[in-house]
Amino acid sequence: MLNDSTILPPVTLEETIEEIKRSGDKLLLRVALKASENELLEKKEIVKVLLIEEPERLRLLFKLADAIRRKYTGETVLIKGVIEFSNYCKKNCLYCGIRAANRKVERYRMKPEEIVETAERMAGLGINTIILQSGEDPYYTADLMEDIIREVRRRARTPVSISIGNRTKEEYTRFKEAGASKCLLKHETINREIFEAMHPDDDYDERISILKHTVEIGYIAGSGNIVGLPGQTIEDIAEDIIFLRDVGVKMVGLGPFVPASGTPLENHPPGDPDLTLKIYALVRLSIPRVFMPATTALGTLNREKQFQGFFAGCNVIMCNFTPEEYRKRYNIYNNKIPVEFYDTARRLRDQGWKLNPLVLKALEEHERREKEREMVS
Ligand code: SAH
Ligand code: SF4
Repeated sequence: MLNDSTILPPVTLEETIEEIKRSGDKLLLRVALKASENELLEKKEIVKVLLIEEPERLRLLFKLADAIRRKYTGETVLIKGVIEFSNYCKKNCLYCGIRAANRKVERYRMKPEEIVETAERMAGLGINTIILQSGEDPYYTADLMEDIIREVRRRARTPVSISIGNRTKEEYTRFKEAGASKCLLKHETINREIFEAMHPDDDYDERISILKHTVEIGYIAGSGNIVGLPGQTIEDIAEDIIFLRDVGVKMVGLGPFVPASGTPLENHPPGDPDLTLKIYALVRLSIPRVFMPATTALGTLNREKQFQGFFAGCNVIMCNFTPEEYRKRYNIYNNKIPVEFYDTARRLRDQGWKLNPLVLKALEEHERREKEREMVS
């Protein structure tokens, strides 16, 4: 249903609102008018939208999010690249496969030079942002992180984002000065009780206070929640969306819970991909200019739904550049899909999205090499 959007001519926000008017859907019309006037949605409106199940109403909701995405951020899907440089973690988040207590994980750390070389290669492919992600690993002291960020910036000349968990505010300030312009610190859930149950070694107020600091000191800051944590209700999700809107983040990374073997939640059911798409749409309505990836977690549960995310408000995808030998060991959840660069770029191009010219050039060269190989064999 959603994929049809590729072959339809772009529809403006005004036209979409007219279509919603004709449908007689009072809730969607109210939400659409508010979003187009930059008025805040109320919690009860968000809850009602999250509960929509009828395909025709969902089509209109996604079309609305799509029109807002197009109006505020254009046709480009940004390809970011992640290097998961260490799977050591001192913490024990209940949902996470690389939590400290999971003894089955084979741990690795990438050397600074290896990280920088990988980043250089990514820059040559037209990657929009290099994301450095890891468990909470004190081996990478503030000094070492600064060196890595500085060297990546110097040699790759691409914006650097960090996703390394809790660090002191001073450290986040230093990393920014070293050249990291973006960072991602997910609040995971705004429900204090669930947060505390999930994070035996984390303090709710501290996490939010660090996040607010990253916003205040001028990072292009990101946050997000996990969909489908034990005990989480639709009302909680509505509060997550309102929190993201009000805290002032410019990026939102959110995806479904995916079970991870060897964790206390290994038998807990995964989060709902369809609910995740509705949340994407509501985040786009609430933060029109947001940078929002269709996440790997969603793709792991359902690869097609990840790409449907681009018709529900998403405008970013994160490709994985962790070297092959480490990648399988960064198992924050089971069966994590690789999100390969060329495969992703090809799909996006074929769906009609606008891509960075350097990405297109890299893809064309790759396809030429593929053809040559076919001819030889
Ligand atoms: N250690 C850092 C960054 C790496 S983890 C941190 O925690 O901030 C990055 C994200 O992976 C976390 O924010 C969490 O939301 C997500 N994650 C971990 N385990 C997950 C699971 N089982 N299902 C879905 N998301 C998960
Ligand atoms: Fe560590 Fe992040 Fe996993 Fe928590 S979610 S255990 S902090 S890697």
